[in-house]
Amino acid sequence: MRDQLFINGRWTAGTGGTLPVCDPATGQIIHQVAAGGPEDVEAAVSAAAAAFPSWSRTSGAARAAFLDAIAEGLRAKAEELARLSSRINGKPLAEARVDLADSATTFAYYAGLARKLDDQRNAPVELADPGFDAVLRREPVGVAALITPWNFPLVTSAWKVAPALAAGCAVVLKPSEITAPLDLELGALAQEAGLPPGVLNILPGTGDSVGTPLCAHPKIAKISFTGSNAVGERVMAAAARGTKRVSLELGGKSAIVVFADADLDHAAELAASGIFTNAGQMCSATGRLLVEASVMQPLLDRLTALARGLRLGPGLEPETTMGPLTTRAQRDKVLAAIRQGLADGATIVTGGGVPADRAEGWFVEPTILTGAPLDSALWREEIFGPVLCVQPFADEEEAVRLANDSDFGLVATVVTGDDARAERVAAALEVGVVWIDCPQMVFVEASWGGWRRSGVGRELGPWGLAAFQEIKHVVRPRRV
Ligand code: NAD
Repeated sequence: MRDQLFINGRWTAGTGGTLPVCDPATGQIIHQVAAGGPEDVEAAVSAAAAAFPSWSRTSGAARAAFLDAIAEGLRAKAEELARLSSRINGKPLAEARVDLADSATTFAYYAGLARKLDDQRNAPVELADPGFDAVLRREPVGVAALITPWNFPLVTSAWKVAPALAAGCAVVLKPSEITAPLDLELGALAQEAGLPPGVLNILPGTGDSVGTPLCAHPKIAKISFTGSNAVGERVMAAAARGTKRVSLELGGKSAIVVFADADLDHAAELAASGIFTNAGQMCSATGRLLVEASVMQPLLDRLTALARGLRLGPGLEPETTMGPLTTRAQRDKVLAAIRQGLADGATIVTGGGVPADRAEGWFVEPTILTGAPLDSALWREEIFGPVLCVQPFADEEEAVRLANDSDFGLVATVVTGDDARAERVAAALEVGVVWIDCPQMVFVEASWGGWRRSGVGRELGPWGLAAFQEIKHVVRPRRV
């Protein structure tokens, strides 16, 4: 496992002490990784700032070649890195393999967009005024700070590093202190690809020791952050000083809406995967199930069977279908949220505690509750664990109203046998992504991001690239 910082193309010990890396299935410390401090932030930002002028002037095709090489490296090491992800995040190996494929696809996709940039360098603008000619240029925004969480290590980093490098930015990546050894592998792949020193720097460390000085650094032009709302708001406030550009991918409390005309077996599978995948540690977890009252009991019966059928265990054991929570703090937070929900009036259908046979490690039972008051924290706040709250609704109008009654707006799932209804409901939902009758498919060509408190801006697709570009409008009198 990697244990050093990656600054200016070299591995270094760092000045912020060390951080423990744990196996969430046992709770044991299995590794120590070096942590950065303010001096390392200074060194990394200086290296990126020094690398930026020449990197930003390379052709899109040249940058694409590096991105393709990193994609290839990720594919070549996919199994080894998936096992590492499973070990330190806790997720089942099958899920970690999907993450690795997603990360590689992201680098390959942005290699494609980088290549296209060469043809779009001076894109003509159609003017009504015949006296002038104008073109649009898309320029890299500068040195970017990329800050990522622990729930999808490598994936959330790839979603930022790949478009930033494609755009021509030099970057400082601060991965989560919990899962940093995995994100550090990007440094090794960059070295193997021959990426110029300073273009990609990776600084593990805490929010205080690396995150805060990084966001405050005057040479940072853009901050792209994925994480909690509490920290996201601090990052946005830090970005205000110096008018730094900022993108935020934050939390959610998303809804899955099931109508009586749905195939209930399919609906139960979608509801279960929407909350039990990654032990519910997904910003896109559909933690609120809204079900048409007439089918609530049959759906609950199916869901309960699926929840009880999950095999909890270490992610690396082949029969495991749900792993532990990634940190002790997260496990405690989830258990406290369930306790508070019960005190507020909710009732447990299944789960609700630590599994009897899994006292070691940070496991929580797949949990389903009904009767959470609509103003309770259980119903309104992100839990980030395997906890599903179920409410009945009477008709389509009430379903949409309840789904939209949230401070967040990241994603939603609609399950119905009626195509016209699916379209109406999808149009009415105030969220960044709607899935109709399908699992949470995420496509690199499409957008990712949320309304309201779920964030600012969009990742993936051309929007992910645009987030690292400034637009320049160049005008001159038409030559006749
Ligand atoms: P977190 O906010 O605690 O930490 C995220 C990152 O920010 C970490 O690298 C952390 O070290 C860093 N950080 C902490 N304090 C900082 C500060 N003051 N300045 C700068 N950086 C700081 O989040 P987490 O617990 O790692 O992740 C879980 C959260 O992430 C959940 O709320 C989840 O919804 C969200 N998330 C959102 C998406 C999305 O795409 N919308 C994806 C994954 C996770």
